Amino acid sequence: MDAIREKSRKKGDPLERIDVLATGHKCASCGNEIAERFSATYQGDILCWECAIDQESTTKNGVEHTTDPAKVVLSESGLYHKSLCDYVINVATGCSHGCKFCYVPSTPNITARQDMLSEQASVSDGQTDWGSYLLYRDDLPERLARKLGRKQKWKTTNRGRGVVMISSGTDCYQDRRAAQITRGCIIELISRGFPVRILTRSPAVARDIDVFQRGIELSEKRDGELIRVGSSIPCLDDKQVKAIEPGAPPPSARLEALRKISQAGIPVYVSMSPTYPTQTYEEFDNLIEEFANLDAEVVFQEPINPRGGNFQMTIKAAEEAGKDHLADELKKISNDREYWVKYSIQQMQWAEELGAKHDVDVHVWPDKQVIKSVGESQAKSLKEQRTAVSPENIADPSLPS
Ligand code: SF4
Ligand SMILES: [Zn+2]
Repeated sequence: MDAIREKSRKKGDPLERIDVLATGHKCASCGNEIAERFSATYQGDILCWECAIDQESTTKNGVEHTTDPAKVVLSESGLYHKSLCDYVINVATGCSHGCKFCYVPSTPNITARQDMLSEQASVSDGQTDWGSYLLYRDDLPERLARKLGRKQKWKTTNRGRGVVMISSGTDCYQDRRAAQITRGCIIELISRGFPVRILTRSPAVARDIDVFQRGIELSEKRDGELIRVGSSIPCLDDKQVKAIEPGAPPPSARLEALRKISQAGIPVYVSMSPTYPTQTYEEFDNLIEEFANLDAEVVFQEPINPRGGNFQMTIKAAEEAGKDHLADELKKISNDREYWVKYSIQQMQWAEELGAKHDVDVHVWPDKQVIKSVGESQAKSLKEQRTAVSPENIADPSLPS
C-alpha cells in the first residue's frame, strides 16, 4: 500500500495517481483481488476489507493504529458558520496529537462510536483516551473518486463557498499514512474543480507543494484559487503549546512550513486558535506581524473556550507540565464567566487592531455565549463579525448547486 502510494507520488504529473481499485492488486493476507473496499497493515501491506477489519490493532508510541470501518466519504459541514467550508473529509478517526482542548472527542463521531472503538482498537473511553488511537481510512481517495463521479449537486453557501476542508476531526498530515490519504483526496478534488482547504498542525504538509502548485495552475482560468493551506498557530511559545497539545509538532515548525508553502505561490492562512488568556498584547503583535510576513490571506482568530467536557483536562495538562500561570488563568476563565467574556473580547479587539497595523486581514470567531453576555451595540458588531465572509478569493466549485 505504502509502495503504491509512493509510486503514485513519483509519477510525472503530481495529479496522476494509481487507483488501487482499478489495478488488480492482491490482498497481502488472503491473496484475493482487491475489488471493493481495502485498507492496510501498520507496515503498509495492502489488505482486502475482510482481512483489514479482522486484523489486530498495532501500538506505536502509545497510539493504537488500525482500520476505520466508517462508510462516510464526504460530509456536509456546519463550518460555513466560520466561513471555512461546506464539506469536510476526515482521513481518520482519532488524532495522535491529542490536543487537550480538542472538541472532536465530545462529538457524536466519537461518543456514538464507542462500541466500534472498543472492538477495533481496544479503546475503553473514546473521550478520555483521545490521542491514543488512530483509525485510518486508506481507501478514501478511491471511494471519493467514485462518489464525485456520481455527484449531481454541490452545496455552496455564501460563507462556505462549496469548499471541502481536510480535515476538521483529525490532523490530515500527522503521519505518512494520513498524508498519503490526504494527498490522494486533494488530487481527486482539485482535478474535478472542487475547492479545497487544508488545515493541519503538521509541517509535513510542505511535502505536497507540488500538488498545491498544480491546484494553482488549474485555477488559472477561474476567478479564485482551488487550494489554500493553513495551520493552527495560537502562540509561538513552543513549551506552552506543548503542555496542552502534547503530540503536535511545535508551532515554530508549523510557521516555517507555511512560509515555504507561501513562498511557493500557494495562498496560505492561519488559524490563530485557540489563543490563551496568558497571551499579551506584545505577543499578539509579534505573532500577527509574523503572519503578515507570511503574506497570509487571512488570520482566523478565536479565544479558548472553557465550555465542554475537556476543559478540565486542559487545566490538568497545564498543571502537570508545570505551566502554573497558564493553569491559573485557565481556571479563572472556567470559574468566572465575566472574566472569560472580558478576555475573549479583548483578544479579538487586539487581533483586529493589529491586523490593521500589519496590513493582514483578521477574521475573528466570537463565541455565541460571549455575544449573549454583552450590551446591545457590542453584540451587534460581534454578530456582524460572526456572520462575515472571509476575504479569501476562492474558485467556484465546478458543479451547479
Ligand atoms: S490536531 Fe486538531 S483534531 Fe487533532 S487533537 Fe488537535 S485539535 Fe483535535
Ligand atoms: Zn484478504
